[in-house]
Amino acid sequence: MADEVTTDFGREAETETTAQRERGRRDADTETDPEGGEVEDGNEFYRIHQTQLARTMEHVDLENHVELILSEPKNEIIVNFPVQMDDGDYRLFTGYRIQHNNIMGPYKGGIRYHHDVTLGEIKALASVMTYKCALLEIPFGGAKGGIRMVTDDHSGDELESITRRFTHDLGTNIGPEYDIPAPDMGTNGQTMVWMMDTYMNMHNQLSKNARRRIVTGKTIASGGSRGREKATGQGVVYCIQEWADERGVRLDGCEYILQGFGNVGSHTARILSRLGAVLVGVQDHTGSIMNRDGIYPRKLNEHVENNGGIAGYPEAESIDGDEFWGLDCDICIPAALELQVDEDVASSLDCDLVIEAANGPTTLEAEPVLADRDIEVIPDVVANAGGVVVSYFEWVQNKRSESWQLQEVDSRLHFMMKRAFHEMRAFAREHDVDNRTAAFAVALDRLNDVYTERGVFP
Ligand code: GLU
Repeated sequence: MADEVTTDFGREAETETTAQRERGRRDADTETDPEGGEVEDGNEFYRIHQTQLARTMEHVDLENHVELILSEPKNEIIVNFPVQMDDGDYRLFTGYRIQHNNIMGPYKGGIRYHHDVTLGEIKALASVMTYKCALLEIPFGGAKGGIRMVTDDHSGDELESITRRFTHDLGTNIGPEYDIPAPDMGTNGQTMVWMMDTYMNMHNQLSKNARRRIVTGKTIASGGSRGREKATGQGVVYCIQEWADERGVRLDGCEYILQGFGNVGSHTARILSRLGAVLVGVQDHTGSIMNRDGIYPRKLNEHVENNGGIAGYPEAESIDGDEFWGLDCDICIPAALELQVDEDVASSLDCDLVIEAANGPTTLEAEPVLADRDIEVIPDVVANAGGVVVSYFEWVQNKRSESWQLQEVDSRLHFMMKRAFHEMRAFAREHDVDNRTAAFAVALDRLNDVYTERGVFP
């Protein structure tokens, strides 16, 4: 997911306290693996990702050692750190930074704040970033980080302290030419500015300003790029446009449903509505709504900003989750968490396209169901890559002390999204495989070439 998507769905209210949730489950994060070993909680997504990669290996001529190297992250950094809360008490947080691969360039990827964050999830997300960057041909590797916490339960001051302390404890494990964090679910431009400021102040004062690019996705005032905030949504829409062109579908009048109304979902909807597409149903952690005449994304966004969710939006009807997934439409856009489109959802969808604005929303079991029902899937690695592409532009602008106009950002993004989309489609056609296999294959081919040319040292 892409970055900055909304929080969880359909989960029952938890009765534990925040402290229990943040602290208590650390030890209970294991379950028994069907193979007999122990796996971490959150490994379901990791397992899916590994299976998808294994499937892809059948279609690429990968050197054994490359497969081996990519099978695990290079570094797994876990820091436990205390932070004083507003009431004077201290609480211990666990922060992760997983650096999957850096053969293509510095490690790159978001920082997620969410109460379901686990090592397994972050490992999978870090690996996804390696392939995303390779597919989009940006000179970065893959990483991901996160803290398991309930963001809504913390004040702005607490979030600032947690972020600064986490950055401090990561120390030289991150760096502007080494590992560059960005926003993800539960974090935003402000979080990145706190990280940047902490990092800048921890290192040599004379070259302080050369370190702005330690993070991307910053606010524009503090060195961010124009177009970064909407970039993931913009990239999703560029992909939809290519899909529509290929299929001869007109977006004007096209109907779609959207899960998640955070940064990615709301920007995707706002951009799509300018192209005449009609939003007929939305779901977030507060409920599901529909209006067959169309929901105005801008008005809904205002409602969400004032109420914290879509529930109670006056210009739509409240529906249940099953009805939401079964709404008749052309496009379904999951823009929230992993594992949302399972076998049941896949059998009830009534659309032609699922575009993965979130990272990992489709389960393994759902894939054959979607394929049988002729529902095309545009996978996360390409669909939500707009965020990291504009992160790259931000990094380049900071490095060169430049500030690009929005039009320039958008047109470069458009070019890169289009190129990746068509490379994926060409591979899929040539090898008669699905889009996900094709996207991973194109990325793996590139990584394989570089490893083959450079060899392994020592
Ligand atoms: N968190 C985003 C993603 O999953 C963006 C990462 C970045 O900009 O580095 O792609």
